[in-house]
Amino acid sequence: MTHYICLGGCQGESDTEEVCVSETCKLKGKVLKECDCVDGLHYGLFGMRDIKVDLKPDEKN
Ligand SMILES: [Zn+2]
Ligand SMILES: [Zn+2]
Repeated sequence: MTHYICLGGCQGESDTEEVCVSETCKLKGKVLKECDCVDGLHYGLFGMRDIKVDLKPDEKN
């Protein structure tokens, strides 16, 4: 199912297309990115440390 995620660092998620509302997020006020992953990992787009992804460690930001 398509959902929307914020890539600004707040790791926000939504089922509907909306903007990030996290005060501390660098993408606050920006529309979330569409994602259609089925495993909840968002293809590693969050770059979270506790999720095993194939992103290079220096690729955050
Ligand atoms: Zn955000
Ligand atoms: Zn996703």
